[in-house]
Amino acid sequence: MAGPVERITLTHLQIPLKEPHQSPGETAIKEAILVTVESQGGLGLGECSLSTASSGPSQDRKPPPGPDAIWNELTDRLVPAVLGQSFDSIEALQVLFSNLTVAPSARVGIETACWDLLGQLRHASLAELMGASLKESNPCVESGLCLGLYPTVVELLKVIETHLVEGFRRVKIDIEPGRDVELVHAVRQHFGEIPLMVDARGAYSSADIEVFRALDDLDLLMIEQPMAPADLAGSAALQEVIATPVGLDESARTRTQVEAALRCGAGRAVCLKLQCVGGYGPALELHELCRRSDVPCWVGTMPEFGIGQAHGIHLAALGNCRYPTDLGPSARWFVDDYAAPSLEMASPGHLRIPSRPGLGFQLNHAKVRRYQVRQAEFKERNSVVG
Ligand SMILES: [Mg+2]
Repeated sequence: MAGPVERITLTHLQIPLKEPHQSPGETAIKEAILVTVESQGGLGLGECSLSTASSGPSQDRKPPPGPDAIWNELTDRLVPAVLGQSFDSIEALQVLFSNLTVAPSARVGIETACWDLLGQLRHASLAELMGASLKESNPCVESGLCLGLYPTVVELLKVIETHLVEGFRRVKIDIEPGRDVELVHAVRQHFGEIPLMVDARGAYSSADIEVFRALDDLDLLMIEQPMAPADLAGSAALQEVIATPVGLDESARTRTQVEAALRCGAGRAVCLKLQCVGGYGPALELHELCRRSDVPCWVGTMPEFGIGQAHGIHLAALGNCRYPTDLGPSARWFVDDYAAPSLEMASPGHLRIPSRPGLGFQLNHAKVRRYQVRQAEFKERNSVVG
């Protein structure tokens, strides 16, 4: 066993986005809190990625916690719980975090950083540590393009065209009531049989079945989150009448939710987002529940900077993650990144699963300094805040 966690550093970062993540009018700055966890055995990296959306179309969606709320959860609850602790196994990590009832969006940064540290200690990549079977010598996961709503169809088609040359393995477009079937028709007409899916972000209800019947004829890979997150019965009724798999994102954040969704047949695919479930422990649990029900998963994103997305790459190496990921190169969304190396496609449409122990990524310290807005360092028995 490596020595106990001796130092934890939190760094609040802001890096401009190239375009709004979901719809025009959102914040143009992406914020995250980088968490580094240090022991004699090494230095682990994790990220709390803050949502860029001020509100979504679903009426029952709570506003996501802001940077101060996440920062305070980390400093007041998580850092004191982890500082001084030792762990040498997944089970020990799970015990350490199972007693903490904190927001998943705060937990994820420190939990994934501890996993990175554990991987280094065990000389295993995080994918290997989780039991992914990596048969090829150069294993990769598939990168899927995610697009929000654009003011016009012409703009949407132009953006897809620009990005398709980068090799993305799938296109996902957002839809909303009144802007749905026509959008998908236009994309199909222009780009033919590309792998295509839609994300409805919970904006529809049982009254909209005809919209989904029309979408069902357009050979989509999946219809993501058609109904409000709590409307599992509506989602199940829809899945009964369409052949296209219904994908669950906002409906699938906890064990209880996923069990209920699988039980009633609310969907045939489940999104795993480390940021929304609170790290690898909860994500592995959901992955296993889905695997046992033969419901495939895919890895979603906020999107995160390179460190956050690199954790998603390891998760996507698991056997039941059978759809292309929502993960992509950092340059897709951000003007810059603080990860070293920056996250890029290894070959068109593919992100390499790092083989080095742990996460397999490091920090570009000059960029961390350039984009940081506050930093705090905590050591065992005393803390230095800067
Ligand atoms: Mg979604």
